[in-house]
Amino acid sequence: MKTEFILAAAEAVNAAILANEAEIESLDREIGDGDHFINMKRGCATIVSMREELATLPPDTALQKIGMKLLSTIGGASGPLLGSFFISMAKAVKEQDTTSLAGIAAAFAAGVEAIKSRGKSDVGEKTMLDVLIPVSQTFTRLAAEGVERHDLLEVLKREAEQGMRSTRDMIATKGRAAFLGERAIGHIDPGAKSCQVIIQTVCDLAGRH
Ligand code: ADP
Ligand code: MG
Repeated sequence: MKTEFILAAAEAVNAAILANEAEIESLDREIGDGDHFINMKRGCATIVSMREELATLPPDTALQKIGMKLLSTIGGASGPLLGSFFISMAKAVKEQDTTSLAGIAAAFAAGVEAIKSRGKSDVGEKTMLDVLIPVSQTFTRLAAEGVERHDLLEVLKREAEQGMRSTRDMIATKGRAAFLGERAIGHIDPGAKSCQVIIQTVCDLAGRH
């Protein structure tokens, strides 16, 4: 993993989140409190604004700084969750070789584990983890099998899309949507949608690198 890729991903994700404003905004209005888009927008803008500061740093230090900054700038439930994702991923990137897809998959898995433990949540609870956990598991498996990079990225995008859609028929047991009980059924989780957009964007970018 290179810092240059992290910076390019930040730019691309920022643009993709902005392009999906209407959808993300309305999902959190339906089953949350309507601030998820603003939270994501603020997080993306913050990372993009750190470009100069991050450019000369090794990737693990850059990810660590991003995580610390997200903890203090994104509000809501998603700030601490995404902040801890980056901090744990940074630690894994520092400790192991991430020149291979398997190494990157392991670092991604470490980040997802941090969200699980911080959010005390797992797959099936109508959250961003319904995208992140299946994507992480598939990433680890396909990388271990040595699946070709382009094919692997395509599968991860499909997995993210499926995970996002799977939240539609779930009852939420974590986050604000949990207060709605069965009324949350029929609505996609906003955090799952933004994570799907992020994964799609980063996979597209990785396919061009
Ligand atoms: P808030 O819920 O505090 O308003 P956001 O609107 O920014 O914060 O983020 C809401 C998203 O956070 C949800 O759509 C869900 O995906 C995710 N989320 C909330 N609580 C948890 C949790 N305990 N574990 C994992 N993800 C969660
Ligand atoms: Mg919200």
